[in-house]
Amino acid sequence: MEFAEFAERAAEMEEEPADLETVGLVGELFADAGGDLDVVARFVQGRIFPAHDGTKLDIGPSLCYEALARAAGPNVTADDVEDRLADVGEIGAVTEGLDLGGQQGLAAFGEDAGDDGLSVSDVDSELRNLAAAEGSGSTDTKVDTLFGLFNRAEPLEARFLARLVLGEMRVGVGEGTVRDAIGEAFDVPGAAVERALQVSNDCGLVAEIARDDGEAGLEEVHLDVGRPVKAMLAQAGTAVDALEEWDEAAVETKYDGARVQVHYDGESARLFSRNLEDVTDPLPEVVEFVESELDVPAILDGEVVAVDDDGDPLPFQEILRRFRRKHDVAAAREDVAVELQAFDCLHADGEDLLDVPLVERHDRLTDLLSAGVSELVVTDDPDAIAAKEERALEAGHEGIMLKNPASAYTPGNRGKNWLKRKPDVETLDLVVTGAEWGEGRRANLLGTFLLSARVTDGEGYETIGKVATGITDEELEDLHERLEPYVLSESGTEVDLEPAVVFEVGYEEIQRSPTYSSGYALRFPRFVTVREDKDPEDADSLERVERLADA
Ligand code: AMP
Repeated sequence: MEFAEFAERAAEMEEEPADLETVGLVGELFADAGGDLDVVARFVQGRIFPAHDGTKLDIGPSLCYEALARAAGPNVTADDVEDRLADVGEIGAVTEGLDLGGQQGLAAFGEDAGDDGLSVSDVDSELRNLAAAEGSGSTDTKVDTLFGLFNRAEPLEARFLARLVLGEMRVGVGEGTVRDAIGEAFDVPGAAVERALQVSNDCGLVAEIARDDGEAGLEEVHLDVGRPVKAMLAQAGTAVDALEEWDEAAVETKYDGARVQVHYDGESARLFSRNLEDVTDPLPEVVEFVESELDVPAILDGEVVAVDDDGDPLPFQEILRRFRRKHDVAAAREDVAVELQAFDCLHADGEDLLDVPLVERHDRLTDLLSAGVSELVVTDDPDAIAAKEERALEAGHEGIMLKNPASAYTPGNRGKNWLKRKPDVETLDLVVTGAEWGEGRRANLLGTFLLSARVTDGEGYETIGKVATGITDEELEDLHERLEPYVLSESGTEVDLEPAVVFEVGYEEIQRSPTYSSGYALRFPRFVTVREDKDPEDADSLERVERLADA
């Protein structure tokens, strides 16, 4: 296909306000693309490489302006291009308005000299050459190549060429449009296209298969070790949401690190970041770990975490430093150690596992690795969820993830099957009016604290819940010492306390409940801190509790 024709079609899409009509236009483009279908399916989204391919053109806007200025002749400088951009606001329109072409220079000649027309595949191969240029002098090579392309482009072609190079086509075509257009053009079900796109992460390949082999061909698309898929994503949610939605929740530590997808082909491992960049080289110890542990080809999903000498987690910034490290990896490795916490298995020993339930995928993971696997607690008990969260926070992790135990792995999807537990939005300041002795190694300390809200416009306090979660050992000792002087009476493991100390407490939800004298109960109460600055009279009133419960 001529690039001029592609540009005309793209201009039509840009003019078309209705999504449905745009799908039709993209479908026609695909049906007419012939041997260039794969390239056109990418170009129309402003992509040069398939989504699984982390290769970048590595050419910033300023080099692009330089190439444009050269193609526009001696009277235009890169600064002029930038000035026009500031006026016009969009590079495609600026480019279209320049008088490009007719300039002499190395790249203006070449195999196409004499036949100036650009084809879609010319543009594709030139941009691939540009991306491949490396080492000293590569910047000049890149600018030369771009200059050559702009020099050969007609105004409308130049509009889309500039946008393509800068990765923003602005024709209103995203992944969803491409999916629907493939379905429409080649008469295959949207769901089959969607699945093949998720599995291959390559819209050009999927378009070709849909055209050449139809639905049956799409069903044959499998995961490929070495070709990363998009990561499954999580929504914010609560434990209440999880237990209402599913019979049980699979609870896991939420690690504060960076996502990695591990691809092991039976001999060596490659690692990909969340945006599918190859991060194998910066993380040699993860590569060594995986290669020593795995016996069969596999694709794993997980988080790499930076750890200190005791194996305790370090903040997320530390792992970023390792990711960015291109040189002196060995020295960086001595500074900050990293380890893998794998939490999912997408493929094992020739078998794709995307549609297998989460708990089974996790079992496969445990079979494959002897260490470095997240602990998955499957439970319908809110207290077990709270306990898992407490352990995670105490160990210095970010919190917990709640997952649907029966769910499939859906690449790129931010669905409701994975929830990252939302931090508490509101907190309440409540008076401690009772406590219970702890158990086990906490047996000689007050452990669970009875919380009360202030009666609005009256005297006294009404109970609303108990908190035992979110308290470190050190804090517990401190709380014990603070509260012991206020013990009024004891019966069994329970003590009554004189209202004196105010806790700030987080929670997920306030429910009406007969369990406590206020008529309300906190769900998932969590200790935040002692409000040293507050007396019991300053604690939150029942009126506020009622308002929050109704909100
Ligand atoms: P966020 O980045 O806040 O949207 O949270 C989602 C991210 O948490 C994922 O992309 C992972 O990188 C990370 N994460 C940490 N632990 C887990 C886990 N156990 N399961 C899934 N994702 C996790």
